[in-house]
Amino acid sequence: AKWVYTFGDGAAEGAADMKALLGGKGANLAEMSNLGIPVPPGFTITTEVCTAFYAGGRSYPADLAPSVDAALARMARITGKTFGDERDPLLVSVRSGARASMPGMMDTVLNLGLNDVTVEALARVAGDARFAWDSYRRFIQMYANVVLDLEHHEFEEILEDYKEHHGFVLDTDLGADDWKAVVADYKKLIERELDKPFPQDPREQLWGAIGAVFGSWMNARAITYRRLHDIPESWGTAVNVQAMVFGNMGETSATGVAFSRNPSTGEKALYGEFLINAQGEDVVAGIRTPQNITEAARLLASSDKPSLETEMPAAFAEFVAICDRLERHYRDMQDVEFTVERGKLWMLQCRIGKRTTKAALKMAVDMVAEGLIERHEAVRRIDPAGLDQLLHPTIAPDAQRRIFASGLPASPGAASGEIVFTSEEAEAVAQSGRKVILVRVETSPEDIHGMHAAQGILTTRGGMTSHAAVVARGMGKPCVSGAGSIRIDYTAGTMSAEGVVLRRGDRITIDGGAGQVLLGDVPMQRPELSGDFAALMEWADAIRRMKVRANAETPADARVARGFGAEGIGLCRTEHMFFDEGRIVAVREMILADTENERREALAKLLPMQRADFVELFEIMRGLPVTIRLLDPPLHEFLPKTDSEIADVSAAMGVPAARLRDRAEALHEFNPMLGHRGCRLAVSFPEIYEMQCRAIFEAAVAVGRKSGETIVAEVMVPLVGLKSELDWVKARIDAVAAAVAKETGVAVPYHVGTMIELPRAAIVAASIAESAEFFSFGTNDLTQTTFGLSRDDASKFLGAYLKGGLVEHDPFTTLDTEGVGALMDIAVERGRKGRADLKIGICGEHGGDPASIRFCETIGLDYVSCSPFRVPIARLAAAQAAL
Ligand code: PEP
Ligand code: MG
Repeated sequence: AKWVYTFGDGAAEGAADMKALLGGKGANLAEMSNLGIPVPPGFTITTEVCTAFYAGGRSYPADLAPSVDAALARMARITGKTFGDERDPLLVSVRSGARASMPGMMDTVLNLGLNDVTVEALARVAGDARFAWDSYRRFIQMYANVVLDLEHHEFEEILEDYKEHHGFVLDTDLGADDWKAVVADYKKLIERELDKPFPQDPREQLWGAIGAVFGSWMNARAITYRRLHDIPESWGTAVNVQAMVFGNMGETSATGVAFSRNPSTGEKALYGEFLINAQGEDVVAGIRTPQNITEAARLLASSDKPSLETEMPAAFAEFVAICDRLERHYRDMQDVEFTVERGKLWMLQCRIGKRTTKAALKMAVDMVAEGLIERHEAVRRIDPAGLDQLLHPTIAPDAQRRIFASGLPASPGAASGEIVFTSEEAEAVAQSGRKVILVRVETSPEDIHGMHAAQGILTTRGGMTSHAAVVARGMGKPCVSGAGSIRIDYTAGTMSAEGVVLRRGDRITIDGGAGQVLLGDVPMQRPELSGDFAALMEWADAIRRMKVRANAETPADARVARGFGAEGIGLCRTEHMFFDEGRIVAVREMILADTENERREALAKLLPMQRADFVELFEIMRGLPVTIRLLDPPLHEFLPKTDSEIADVSAAMGVPAARLRDRAEALHEFNPMLGHRGCRLAVSFPEIYEMQCRAIFEAAVAVGRKSGETIVAEVMVPLVGLKSELDWVKARIDAVAAAVAKETGVAVPYHVGTMIELPRAAIVAASIAESAEFFSFGTNDLTQTTFGLSRDDASKFLGAYLKGGLVEHDPFTTLDTEGVGALMDIAVERGRKGRADLKIGICGEHGGDPASIRFCETIGLDYVSCSPFRVPIARLAAAQAAL
């Protein structure tokens, strides 16, 4: 097999479409080389080597070493420098590069090839001893951390002690001899810790670093990141070995990162940051606050540090042209890393840039207008789940802002919560159901879990491309970074700015769009969904086949759903209407009734209220279908439970507490979810459904009279397992419809259908369809009954299943296509055999989950129905499923 692919000097053995083999970084370095963009020469060791490495118990294929030697020889021919040479040494970087980008998750070693001899050679060749010794100490520190597994902070302490002892403040205060002394101390530390000296042989160094990068694929951080982002372990990582170029060779050198468009807003403007006389990771690490690349961005940020545009105009012009070229080549926004070595520009990486959903929308719509991509491609590019970000609240325009501090607007949206200072605390407090803002000097990959748990993130150091900013944008969480006026005291659990001191647990609000930290809670508003959002949704609507409805019963929810583009109501859970104040009393009277007559009396009180509910719903949804489901839950759910609740209800209703208790006891079930509920209730107490149907039909007549439009009601029967159950209920529905028609003189059209939420119903779907005009999959119950897994209790132990990899997703969130999905497939096929024009939808939670929606498309459902706020997500996901 070919294990090694070379690149550089205007040519490459790989290309951009070889990501699976070369990883993202390697494939794009090859592509840039092929385009003639200046890339330091190097080579990529493939992901297949990673696979072989683990399959062989952490050993390499026998013929790998000669290929690496040949690739090093090619680098020597291009650069004129030789790896390990004692007069003019070639130095290299060693970096990981997986198929999907995993920022900061894996390890990197720079300046590799330096030792006690080559450092002197570097000093001579560069004419700068300080630079050479600074590079050497950086190398030792990184190598010790990544390859030798020693703690970073031990090296930091040596440096801090040295600075303090000699009265230095900044790293730049140290000269060549100082770094020489620090290097000596570093080497002593390593020898003390490991009982052997720091490796001097460049080849030993190189293989050590390669092994460490492959090893880092299985470190805890990488494993967590993969789990959060659904990246398979089997992919493995590639290793990129590349000739070093130095951004730390004095004032005419620099290093930086940039996006070809603004990743936060989507605006078409080059956006990036750099540091003069710095190396690689310094920018992303957030240790020094970086400078803007363009003059426009500098002015906007009112920064007094010069931009790259004015500082290095020639390199800047070339850089702008390359970014533009890359964007047109890849037809997407680019995230690039570059270094300027003594005025000469080098590109170190390019990839498709991560972005907020807001930015993704703007870029997609803009790129269609620019002729860069087609509408289909624009629709494909937006992550449906990410639309959630847009539905995130922002601060109300007229809200009073009590500003505690300001920083960079690193990730949009606003959030309020309690201050916490560690990720552990963030997780613990969030688990107890409270909202937190994670406040850190800066974040690192170790903070991922805390950032996940938090509503928002605030850092006091670092720029727009710092770890906190990048990760928060990816997660769609508000973030303010680099709020430099804040002083954090982790030990005391406080932070202060301008004399105001806040403690752990105090409430703050962050505005990630404005970069502000505000005291207390601030009123928020939901955003306007017009402009780019509306345009993209329209394109999506033109593509999708399935309809999208909403699960809604209150007027407020129905209005929101319609506003979000719902094409009807797929599930109106009537029991929610029973809990309303004013009617729960009548519901309880109905339940406490001893005779049918008493029950009918109580139901008569409910009738006008229920009718008014439906009138309102029909009016809001005029012109669109409304599916009303008859009462589903077991009756004891409506009775008071605790002693004090029973006492309250007893007093309010004038019913003895003992009677309430007796009735609750009589209705008690060991397994209510498999108990006396759904259509089973109707078989015992037909008058309940009769009242509900009367309310539905009378409401349809009333709204039809008023509006002059015909209202078509869809009546849905829950928990059907037998055709006989549906027939039994349907006969009564038809009788009520006939009675209402006779009384009012108006025969409203209606359809009777059923939920499919029991495995038996799916299997006998052909016969059920003879009586049902439509099916709606109740995948919450269908998942529960297929797995034999209680939907109310499963969360207690499903976590362990997810962690242990026994299931890939929570089956109550993402459809289990293999089991539950197979039943659905059967039901669709058999149902349509029973009735060719059977209309079929889904109204379980899965109706708003993009992966589940994709499945619904494949089995040919007519519509999905989900909660109102997920309607836009479902519209987009349904379009992508149809593409
Ligand atoms: C279902 O079971 O999927 C469903 C939609 O009904 P409910 O959640 O009300 O049981
Ligand atoms: Mg159900």
